Amino acid sequence: MRFSNLHTHTTFSDGKGTVRENIESAIAKNMLSLGFSDHSFTACDTSYCMMLSDYEKYCTEVKALAEEYKEKLPVFLGIEKDYYSEIEKGMFDYVIASVHYIVRGGVCYPIDHTAKQQETCRDEAFGGNMLDMAKCYYEMVAEHAAACKPDVIGHFDVLNKFSIMPEADERYIAVTEEAMKEAFKHCKRFEVNTGGISRGWRKNPYPSLYLLELLRDLGGEVVINSDSHHPDNLDFHFCESAELLKKAGFETFSVFNGNGFDKIKL
Ligand SMILES: [Zn+2]
Ligand SMILES: [Zn+2]
Repeated sequence: MRFSNLHTHTTFSDGKGTVRENIESAIAKNMLSLGFSDHSFTACDTSYCMMLSDYEKYCTEVKALAEEYKEKLPVFLGIEKDYYSEIEKGMFDYVIASVHYIVRGGVCYPIDHTAKQQETCRDEAFGGNMLDMAKCYYEMVAEHAAACKPDVIGHFDVLNKFSIMPEADERYIAVTEEAMKEAFKHCKRFEVNTGGISRGWRKNPYPSLYLLELLRDLGGEVVINSDSHHPDNLDFHFCESAELLKKAGFETFSVFNGNGFDKIKL
């Protein structure tokens, strides 16, 4: 089976490979297409994202290389838009909407960067209450979907990354399910994101299987994305993810074609 990846980070943000190196890798892997989604500018933390002044160069370079490689590989220009970013959607072929921070009391807490930072957020901003933190995060995911109306919702339950959250707690599960239903009203397409596996944090992609089953019941769509930060990882764990999707009851996954999404049989 051939795959595409729409969630690719390059040296324009916190990825290790250039745009060209990623395209070359996708061709070597016989992928269907490749989309770039470097991190949008977040004023509260500029350590990993593009600066506003980078946007033009990023767009120009991806478009120039898309033209150069058009006979070999369709290449698309996207962005991973954080909750705390403003972007001009029209600049990009597609938008992935993700939440990476909770800002409370003027402090910006990264929630998927290190376990320690996630614990600090829980302790300082939510008095140690994991469920309150989870409610806040998942409400933000749904709000982000409503405000941004993205093409794809990014790493829906990335809050589970460090296995700190009470994933088996019924109350936690209810919070995640409610948020998915709410987000779904504004975007029916979620990514299956394997980035936590390639970085050794998780055994399974985001979202968890019960959420994939809920998405299937809602009539949602899935794209398979690697959240790649290295050209070698563009299709990391994709075959396994396709199997997981079948287990969750999906018959197809979606692939971007430049204007919309085609469904490909699993
Ligand atoms: Zn992200
Ligand atoms: Zn990402």
